[in-house]
Amino acid sequence: MSQEGSKEDHEGAPAWLRSSRWRWWLLPAVLALVVAGLVGLWTVDPAEELAYTEFVELLEDGEVARITVDDDGRVEGDLEDGTAFETVVPPFVQEELEQRLLEQEVEVEAVAPTDGFLASLLAFLPFFLIIGLFLFLLQRGASQQMGMMQGMGKSQAQVIDAERPDVTFDDVAGYEEVREEVREIIDYLREPERFREVGARGPGGILLLGASGTGKTLMARAIAGEADVAFISASGSEFVEMLVGVGASRVRDLFEKARERQPSIIFIDELDSIGRKRGSQTTIGSNNEQEQTLNQLLKELDGFDPREGIVILAATNRPEMLDEALLRPGRFDRQIEVPLPTQDDRVKILEVHLRSKPIADDVDLTVVARGTPGFSGAQLENLVNEAAITALRDDRREIMQRDFDAARDRLVIGKRQSSDLLRDAEKRRVAVHEAGHALVAAVQDAADPVAKVTILPAPKALGTTEQLPTEERRLASEAELQASLVVRLGGRAAEMVVLDELSTGAAEDLAQATELAGRMVREFGLSDRVGPVGYPTQDEPGGLPGVQSRPYAEDTQQLVDEEVQRLLRDAADRAQHLIEQHREVFDQLVDRLLEQEQVDGEEIEQLLA
Ligand code: ADP
Ligand code: ZN
Repeated sequence: MSQEGSKEDHEGAPAWLRSSRWRWWLLPAVLALVVAGLVGLWTVDPAEELAYTEFVELLEDGEVARITVDDDGRVEGDLEDGTAFETVVPPFVQEELEQRLLEQEVEVEAVAPTDGFLASLLAFLPFFLIIGLFLFLLQRGASQQMGMMQGMGKSQAQVIDAERPDVTFDDVAGYEEVREEVREIIDYLREPERFREVGARGPGGILLLGASGTGKTLMARAIAGEADVAFISASGSEFVEMLVGVGASRVRDLFEKARERQPSIIFIDELDSIGRKRGSQTTIGSNNEQEQTLNQLLKELDGFDPREGIVILAATNRPEMLDEALLRPGRFDRQIEVPLPTQDDRVKILEVHLRSKPIADDVDLTVVARGTPGFSGAQLENLVNEAAITALRDDRREIMQRDFDAARDRLVIGKRQSSDLLRDAEKRRVAVHEAGHALVAAVQDAADPVAKVTILPAPKALGTTEQLPTEERRLASEAELQASLVVRLGGRAAEMVVLDELSTGAAEDLAQATELAGRMVREFGLSDRVGPVGYPTQDEPGGLPGVQSRPYAEDTQQLVDEEVQRLLRDAADRAQHLIEQHREVFDQLVDRLLEQEQVDGEEIEQLLA
């Protein structure tokens, strides 16, 4: 593992020069010095430079009043009429000259050589200083001068971090799927030449989606560590400041730094604070700045030579906030979801953070993991830390099971005071809803088999039921479409049957089911009453996207609506019927979900058998 020190310092002035108070009077001071220097140059009479022979002539004419000589033979002096002059005496005539000086009664002063040197150096010092300061000011970019004038905001050095992490996948627990997905990135960074040779482009921008604390930053750093490349990072929220133009110049800087160090990884945390949808913002003022920053980022992404050994990663927990322009092909066109850890993942994360800590024999990490549903990696790390502190407080050398219990209570009760008080009731509702989808999918032959059900919150959903088609299909039969409707309505049906009450959780399901039923009636000719007609869904050319013209009569529309309702009602009844018929298995499924958060398809099959 190579390491160049964890954090490089950044080029530029020393800290005392960077402090803003200095800057305030730096500029006026430099100007004053320049003016003083120029005035000095004009008022002091420049000495006349004489050739040695001219000097000797003047000397013999008795014109020389006094001279000062140094060891190197440099002579400065005044003529009788007051004119200053300079000359150099060749070493081979020095003795002869001495005679003449004595004859002419010239006042002679000798100077030690070092003194002379120092004196001239001192005389030039202000000019050196002025030139130095000017160069220094010129060298600093416009953006920094802006920051300087502003006297506020963070300096560049704090915004962009460059390091060579020594974190590896050993430090990231669980998340096998995510690891598989990033394998290719590491291969590319390790040997970009191999991609170049075959003319393949490397991976473009990759977006890591997930709640905060799920380990997105950790994962990005581990990729850099595994590939042994530089890691250039910044947080989106630090890009956008009050002053227009600062963010854009920081984005430029970020990419420049990565180019200097390639192969490298650029990591932008909190991408949503730069990449928010344009025009969706209500705060005036910073709007323009945010837009400029985003535009610069888009420009950098587009101007990017994909053959350069640079990979761009960004993280967000609010993908729906992002401007669509960011997600277009060639930009952040790949998304990797970093979910909250499952129970198994949690055990592994706990193990990673307990690696160097002494634990007692009575500790069962599975129990700890079971008691911490919904905890993120960061929260689990916190839990371990709290447990260690609890043990320490008791003067024990080892962490025991009860330390974890105490730590968990402290963390969870802290949380309970907020919205999590509702969590248990809510969790049951989610379990019932998802079990409904899953059971209905499992018992219908025409439905795709269930891969897994979870009640772990995911972006946009409280739980998920995944179905996997057994084979890739290009055609769907009527029976399959109907089964699919039933599965979509299964969640809502389960809430009806078990809780005798509906919730808002089914809105997405209903919208999807309605859309599918609509297409069955209008496009696929699957309704006897509407008949064998097909009106494909098409955006009107030149019209607003999403606004469709209706190619059929008002009466037909009414018929379509009625048929859609009938299909949906039939499907809902069927779903309810199926759940009632398999109520025992259904209840077991709900319990299992509550207990282990995730149940896979095979387990459901076993329950049904
Ligand atoms: P994010 O960037 O998603 O907000 P971080 O990467 O900053 O999350 O995670 C914060 C901390 O949580 C990490 O430094 C690490 O200690 C811990 N952590 C998160 N996920 C994991 C994991 N899968 N394995 C080990 N530690 C983790
Ligand atoms: Zn649902």
